[in-house]
Amino acid sequence: MSKELINLKDIVMTFDGEDILKSINLTVKDEEFLTLLGPSGCGKTTTLRIIGGFLTPTSGDVYFDGKRINDLPPYKRNVNTVFQKYALFPHLNVYENIAFGLRLKKVKEPEVKARVEKMLKMVNLEGFEKRSPELLSGGQQQRVAIARALINHPKVLLLDEPLGALDLKLRKEMQLELKKIQRQLGITFIYVTHDQEEALTMSDTVVVMNGGLIQQIGTPQDIYNEPANAFVADFIGASNIIDGVMVRDFTVDFMGHRFECVDKGFAENEPIDVVIRPEDFKLVKPEEGMLSGRVESVIFKGVHYESCVRVGERDLLVHSTVCEPVGSEVGLSVIPFDIHIMHKSTDPASQAFHYDEEGQEDET
Ligand code: ATP
Repeated sequence: MSKELINLKDIVMTFDGEDILKSINLTVKDEEFLTLLGPSGCGKTTTLRIIGGFLTPTSGDVYFDGKRINDLPPYKRNVNTVFQKYALFPHLNVYENIAFGLRLKKVKEPEVKARVEKMLKMVNLEGFEKRSPELLSGGQQQRVAIARALINHPKVLLLDEPLGALDLKLRKEMQLELKKIQRQLGITFIYVTHDQEEALTMSDTVVVMNGGLIQQIGTPQDIYNEPANAFVADFIGASNIIDGVMVRDFTVDFMGHRFECVDKGFAENEPIDVVIRPEDFKLVKPEEGMLSGRVESVIFKGVHYESCVRVGERDLLVHSTVCEPVGSEVGLSVIPFDIHIMHKSTDPASQAFHYDEEGQEDET
C-alpha cells in the first residue's frame, strides 16, 4: 500500500462565488481505505465528485497514477462509485443488475456468469439472482449496488455515505463486510461519511474536513489520540474543550486551577485550548478531586454512564462506569497525560462546534 495512486494538488472549487473547497492537497495510496470525514456541507462529496470526474475543479490538478486527469470523463477513469441512493435498475433482476457493466462491455455469457456468481458469493447474496431489487431489504440492495460497482474490477471505488440509509445494526455488519471485501480484492476505497465511529472502524487513513479545508490526515489512532486542533478533537469524540493558558512548559492553568501536563513548546502564558476526553475524567470524592462540582444529569449509555458535572460556570462531560446520582457533589481528577493542549486556531473553519448525530451543525 505504498504506491501513490491519486493526487489532489491545490484543489479549489467555487460555486456561486463561494469557495466550497479552499485548497485541498491529498494523496491516496494504492489499496488504501481512505475516509473523508466531516460535518454536513464541509465538502466531502464535492471532493469525491472531483476524483470521480463528475466535477471539474475551479483550479488545481487531479493526478491518477502520475497522469493529470482533470479533463478525463468519468467513464474513462478507472473508478466506480456507490451512492447512498443505490440507484439499482428496478426492471432488472439482481443477476442482471450486477451483470450490467459486463453487458455494456459485451463480455461473453460464460464469463458474465462466472463473474456474477463470484460477486454474489462475495456479498452473500447467493440464491437471490432472480429477485427484483424492489423485493430486497435495504442492506441487500446495498450489497447488489456494491457488487455491481466491483464487477468491473475498478482500481478505485468511491463510496458516498453508502450505509447511511441502514439501521445501526445492519450498518455495523456492513462496515465489517465492506472492509473485508476491500482487503480481499485489494481495491482502493475512498469513503465519505459524517459518522466518526464508522470512519475510525473502517479506515487505514482518515481525512477530517471542515469548511472546505482539510483539518487533519492520519490513522484512526492518530486522529483519536492526537487531534490536530479543537475541531478535530470535538468532532471525533465529543470532548471537553476548555479555555486555558499555558503558563510554561508542562504547566497549564484552566478553570481557576493549575495543572501539570505533558506538553511543551508553547509561548509563555499563551492562551490555548485544553481538550479532555469524557472518559479521561475520573469521578472521585469532592475533597480528592482536582476540580469539584455537582452532577447535573446522568444518562445510562450501556457500557458507561454519561454524567454532566457543573464545575463553576461550566458543564463537563464525564464517562464512567460509576454512577453518582443527580445533585451529588463530586470531585474530578485527570492525569497529566490526558490533558491535551492545542493552539487556539485563527481559522474560523477549525473552531470547535458541536454537532448532532446527523453531523449537522448545532446552532447553539
Ligand atoms: P453532506 O454530508 O451533507 O453531503 P458534504 O460534506 O458532502 O455534505 P458537499 O456536498 O461537498 O458537502 O457540499 C459542500 C457545499 O457545497 C454545500 O454547502 C453545498 O450546498 C455546496 N454545493 C455542492 N454542490 C453544489 C452545486 N452544484 N452548486 C452550488 N453549491 C453546491
